[in-house]
Amino acid sequence: MPFTSLGLVPSLAQAAADLGFTAPTPVQTDAIPAVLAGGDLLATAQTGSGKTAAYALPLLQRWQGQDAGGPAHTPRRVRALVLVPTRELAAQVGEVLRLLAEKLAPRPKLIVAFGGVSINPQLMALRGGADVVVATPGRLLDLEEHNALKLGAVELLVLDEADRLLDLGFADELSRVLALLPAQRQNLFFSATFPPAVETLARELLHEPLRVDVPSPAQDEAPVVLQRAIAVDDKRRTQLLRQLIKDNGWQRVLVFVATQYAAERLAGKLHHGDIYATSFHGGLSQGARQQTLKEFKEKRWDVVVTTDLAARGLHIDQLPVVVNYDLPRSAVDHVHRIGRTGRAGESGLAVSFVTAATLAHWQLIEKRQGMSLPLEHIAGFEPADPAPPAEAGTGGIKGKRPSKKDKLRAAAAAQKGED
Ligand code: AMP
Repeated sequence: MPFTSLGLVPSLAQAAADLGFTAPTPVQTDAIPAVLAGGDLLATAQTGSGKTAAYALPLLQRWQGQDAGGPAHTPRRVRALVLVPTRELAAQVGEVLRLLAEKLAPRPKLIVAFGGVSINPQLMALRGGADVVVATPGRLLDLEEHNALKLGAVELLVLDEADRLLDLGFADELSRVLALLPAQRQNLFFSATFPPAVETLARELLHEPLRVDVPSPAQDEAPVVLQRAIAVDDKRRTQLLRQLIKDNGWQRVLVFVATQYAAERLAGKLHHGDIYATSFHGGLSQGARQQTLKEFKEKRWDVVVTTDLAARGLHIDQLPVVVNYDLPRSAVDHVHRIGRTGRAGESGLAVSFVTAATLAHWQLIEKRQGMSLPLEHIAGFEPADPAPPAEAGTGGIKGKRPSKKDKLRAAAAAQKGED
């Protein structure tokens, strides 16, 4: 089915084709006509489903169909606002919008704004206003407080990765942004998961939305991600990882650990063992993070060791292997981590290292995911550590102090007599 049959104008269908999008993905098929018709949208869609273009294409068409920036002498007012949880996603969404809008006439002025970098270039760029803004909520509010932009004319609001926005504690910023927007507007809401806080926000925000549910990879025809769980002693994980990488000839492996420090340390150790490895985490400067990501995409690194920072929102084509060196804190984080591989129909492998101390936590993740994997032993790495007493396994990751959330969870579980 061509993009034009969804109601897209030929120039935008061509812009999509120029990016190699010849046929719409399921979320695009459902969302594009609905957004063009002006209705609200509530979409369950993972990164990797094509959700960015699902809103970016109709957003650009609606912007074109209106007065496209107005007469040259009036300052541009923000017409479309895309809120995202992380800098990386902001940059990624901004890039998709920029590429799709490149050949439009007139072309919208697009600004991408996020924290962690100097605000001055963003203030400068906003001189004369902007038509479309992609931003993280905190920096958007800073810019508004500097009078760099006005949000009173926003006609289209997109919340991308709404669950992550709330997870990262942006609820207050979000309400402050919403209070600055006009009541009359179109709202598009994208989220990979729908915990109660996200449901409530969606109910408050949306008016008779069209609901679009894109099947998660687990429901797709092909088993996209093969999962393996390997039992190993805590102290032998690095050696095992090195051996697996070498024996299997793995290239482009994303390895998840619990802390920034662990990411640095493990990347260093692998590097000394002749594996092209580097780290990617929130303690690095924005410039360093972008550079690493670019080099990883260009296949200049075989292994990137990261924290949950990279678990969501990043799309790296053909990322064949994800390794949980440290287990994720929750089943939801696990879904996001393994979602970095096996995308766009390619097959992927997700390997989880399970130690004696994390076995109970792993079993909890399996239970929440409705799966049960055989716990593999690799020759030469058979675990010798004894399993800890049962109560040691209630949440948290070895090497990390239990967080407030872990303690609350453990207390609730103890009360209910489960977990
Ligand atoms: P997203 O879910 O927006 O992060 O998109 C995931 C990946 O799918 C990106 O690399 C896009 O470039 C790609 N993509 C999006 N739409 C299409 C399409 N219609 N055909 C092929 N690839 C697409």
